[in-house]
Amino acid sequence: GDQSVIKRHQELAQKLLQPVYGHYINGEWVESRSRETIDMVDPTTGQTLAKIQSGVGEDAVRAVEAAAAAFPSWSATSPAQRQEILAEMGRRLKARAEDFAMIDTLDNGKPFMEAMHFDIPMAIEQFQVFSGMPWLIHGLTMEVPNGLGLVLREPLGVCAQIIPWNVPLIMMASKIAPALAAGNTVVLKPAETVCLSVLAFVKEVQDLLPPGVLNVVTGYGPNIGEALVTHPLVRKVAFTGSRPTAQKLIQYASVNIIPQTMELGGKSANIVCADANLDGAAEGAAMSTVLNKGEVCLAGSRTFVHVDVLEEFTEKFLALLARVPSGDPTEPGTVLGPQASRMQYDKILGYIDAGRKEGAQCLIGGGRREVEACPDGLFIEPTVFAGVRNEMRIAQEEIFGPVNVVIPWSDEDEVIRMANDNLYGLGGGLWTRDLNRAHRMARRMETGTVWINRYYNFVGGMPIGGYKGSGFGREFAAEVLNHYTQTKSVIISPDDGPM
Ligand code: NAD
Repeated sequence: GDQSVIKRHQELAQKLLQPVYGHYINGEWVESRSRETIDMVDPTTGQTLAKIQSGVGEDAVRAVEAAAAAFPSWSATSPAQRQEILAEMGRRLKARAEDFAMIDTLDNGKPFMEAMHFDIPMAIEQFQVFSGMPWLIHGLTMEVPNGLGLVLREPLGVCAQIIPWNVPLIMMASKIAPALAAGNTVVLKPAETVCLSVLAFVKEVQDLLPPGVLNVVTGYGPNIGEALVTHPLVRKVAFTGSRPTAQKLIQYASVNIIPQTMELGGKSANIVCADANLDGAAEGAAMSTVLNKGEVCLAGSRTFVHVDVLEEFTEKFLALLARVPSGDPTEPGTVLGPQASRMQYDKILGYIDAGRKEGAQCLIGGGRREVEACPDGLFIEPTVFAGVRNEMRIAQEEIFGPVNVVIPWSDEDEVIRMANDNLYGLGGGLWTRDLNRAHRMARRMETGTVWINRYYNFVGGMPIGGYKGSGFGREFAAEVLNHYTQTKSVIISPDDGPM
């Protein structure tokens, strides 16, 4: 019954969390100047897990000042020191993997097994990838007439980093690891809806870093964002989240003309060709629909299926979704947990309604799912629409839930045109056994990542980032170091007479 799930979640929260978290500023856990807190709600039970500080501009200013004060000595540390610290951060995440995974399960609703197999390894991998990078940050020399040119690569200074609630540990690691590797200091603003794993992780590693190198300010974005990003000591803003927030942050960044990287949403096309392995394609499409309850920016949420295999593919796809067990996400057998927040839940149900009103045909799911053991859980059924025209809202807008659309195609030019006819360009999938077709179509897709014959095939060290409205800048790879350093040209001439 529901009492037992509530009890289990409360016991886990008591074991893994503290009742109230502070901001982490200059090596200390401190209260917000607002003297207000925010309840962190468990989306499975509706109960409060812990409280976080409701930050205000003054808190951001304190954090920026601490980060600025820490910058000169942090930027002067040796590559070996930074390597060891980043590697140790990865090791500590690994050592308590189950605990951090369970905190995300309680706070976000993601299935525990998924956090263990997806979030935790990817976050660890970020620390592994970037722990080696301090050694690779170096400039070059150039022979110049009668002298020597040096191109130096220097860190930027204080970086403001703002992250969302869907995969908090991956977002945290992919932001702080490269920034710190390059010798910058950080003010991190995690999401107010889900951030307990980030706070718990910072507690776990706080002894590794000198005070001020990494600061965390929590709370509602609009109360913090402007003071943080327009502070004259902030030299860069890195953001992952929604387009409207990105538009605000770009305005704030224009005040002091600071560089930005923006990782925004997606509505990625997953294209099934007539010669595809249909079992694999159906599995990829099902995973794309339900992984992290569909709350993944790279989700293949538009499935384009060749007419010759439409019936067979759809049958396999729906059969897989029909078997997806929803339930208490702490249970090892659960594949689909509750949506992360009431706001997200309402938004997804709104899109399902919009799909019906626009005349699309719901093939499976289509609403709330009742889970007996978790009557207050924010569960939604895996939902697939057919009869979808590419201009419908459910085919164009990011839903960020377990909702997919199936759109038939018969001609390669036509499917490429439909796939590219979208604001976004973040991820993408392609299923074919024809290598020529694979190369040809992948190059024609206007998107930052294309996975061929296996969706969500993340490879450590390869860049992730957006084309078009999905943003700019790349993360997860060495390329990101260019976003966290700037170059200086020094030209040395011998002092041996008049010019
Ligand atoms: P959001 O933009 O509202 O929130 C993201 C973060 O920005 C949160 O920490 C929030 O507090 C903060 N924020 C909000 N307003 C702010 C302001 N005025 N100033 C400073 N910070 C502010 O996004 P959301 O709706 O909570 O998150 C879901 C969105 O994030 C989806 O659209 C999804 O596609 C996107 N997302 C993208 C990626 C990616 O890698 N591209 C990854 C995860 C999520």
